[in-house]
Amino acid sequence: MFPKEKNYDVVIVGGGLSGLAAAISAREKNLTTLVLEKGRTIGGNGNYVEGAMGVDSYLQKKQNIKVNKLALLHEELNYSHYEASARHLKKFIDHSGQTIDWLHSLGVKFNAVSKQGDSWPTIHPFTGGGHAAVQTMYNTAVKADAEFINSTSAQKVLVQNGQICGLIIRNEATGQERHLTTNNIILATGGYVDNPELVRKKSPFSDRLLTVSNGKATGDGIQLAWAVGAKHYQMGAIQYGGGAIYDTVKPPFIHMSSQLATAATQEAILWVNERGERFVNEDVNDNMCHAGASILTQSRVFSIFDQEAIEHLSKIGLYKEVGNSPVSPETLDRLPSEIKTSLENHEKYLTTAASLTELAEKLQLPKLSETISHYNRLVQAKYDSDFGKNKSYLTPVKVGPFYAVELGVGMACALGGLRVDNNNNILNSYGYPIPGLYAVGNDAAGMLVGDTYAVTLPGSTAGYAAYSGRNAVLNIVINN
Ligand SMILES: Cc1cc2nc3c(=O)[nH]c(=O)nc-3n(C[C@H](O)[C@H](O)[C@H](O)COP(=O)(O)OP(=O)(O)OC[C@H]3O[C@@H](n4cnc5c(N)ncnc54)[C@H](O)[C@@H]3O)c2cc1C
Repeated sequence: MFPKEKNYDVVIVGGGLSGLAAAISAREKNLTTLVLEKGRTIGGNGNYVEGAMGVDSYLQKKQNIKVNKLALLHEELNYSHYEASARHLKKFIDHSGQTIDWLHSLGVKFNAVSKQGDSWPTIHPFTGGGHAAVQTMYNTAVKADAEFINSTSAQKVLVQNGQICGLIIRNEATGQERHLTTNNIILATGGYVDNPELVRKKSPFSDRLLTVSNGKATGDGIQLAWAVGAKHYQMGAIQYGGGAIYDTVKPPFIHMSSQLATAATQEAILWVNERGERFVNEDVNDNMCHAGASILTQSRVFSIFDQEAIEHLSKIGLYKEVGNSPVSPETLDRLPSEIKTSLENHEKYLTTAASLTELAEKLQLPKLSETISHYNRLVQAKYDSDFGKNKSYLTPVKVGPFYAVELGVGMACALGGLRVDNNNNILNSYGYPIPGLYAVGNDAAGMLVGDTYAVTLPGSTAGYAAYSGRNAVLNIVINN
């Protein structure tokens, strides 16, 4: 199916969180609006989002949560070593609460605002998850007469005399192409986390990075813009989702609800590297991005636990509330059966042995026995003099059989590649806006980060997606 019209005031490329926000805003301003979505369904990775960042929202006021915006700005800039754009970040922070209020006015529902680990209290969790928010936004946009075409991608942006004049689109099922005319294109394609070549530009560790995205964030927006003269800006940051089971055969989403993965990555038991040496306070997993970064400093990483830990986690309770989520299960009751199945299937990521010497031999970890003897002494002393792990998570590794799960690092999204101004207008290599060409959501969110993303400001990419979609449309209205 192709669009009804040949000409639109605005064409939005991507029907995820930022594209939906842009579509609703464009209809609020009476612009004829087409949304192209290359997937068969809308919502993109917005479907998986837990919540969106905001400051001074109706909900924070209700919960009496006050955040000092300038202190927050200062901290984020410091974190990015001032590689983030101060002006861009400030405008986003200043409008983030209004954006939450706007989503709320559309019918998007939120649970109580919370923190993640030691973060600022900025995340507004969507009631029913990202999928519910996306559906509400989609229904609003359709009701307001925004037109949506699924299974259709933007292939090429057309420019005449420096002004955007149209684009070539392609039906993904039939391969048929069509030419549309428009003076305004909003690129909302979700960044480049699913494009291995672009990820390699950003990170030399790409072979140990596992994307947990929906597979559609292939950097199309960035490349469409580069092809018409957009500046090749810094590749920004990858949002690490913490340690992940290093399964080189099955796609990472298979392990998303795995209790073995929870035990191995989030329970702060014991991590060792390719030599069998400990390398970090495993409690770093309170911040999934820091956990990911620290795992990548080693050549290989294994999470090691004994039979007693499995008994404890599956029957008595967790040592630690899992991940950043305030909702933590009480036990990992499926852990023994998941281990059994993985062993029966000879999964390469899981190794077991009756003794630690045998485990060390199987995995060629020369220092493992020494590391564990030393670690068990720290556990007994209830004091981690090596890395300062919280004593409640110091549990011995003594009772066989023993298990090792190999870890890679999950990636939720990758930000960067384009430079935009404060109106989300894409800039060329000379620093001037390309008239009519905008980037929003993850395609533009490299402006908010340095070379590392952290969950210091939880919900920031989803909050930015909604904010920036609206922001680009306001500029289109002013310029037309
Ligand atoms: C598992 C997971 C959990 C996450 N949780 C959070 C969270 O809790 N909080 C948070 O802030 N962020 C979270 N994120 C990050 C998330 O990516 C963003 O917050 C949000 O989805 C970004 O919105 P977007 O519009 O830029 O991208 P998306 O929502 O992914 O939308 C992009 C859309 O563009 C489409 N598209 C791509 N190329 C083309 C093309 N050429 N033509 C047409 N359409 C195209 C895609 O199919 C997709 O539908 C999470 C990501 C993942 C993977």
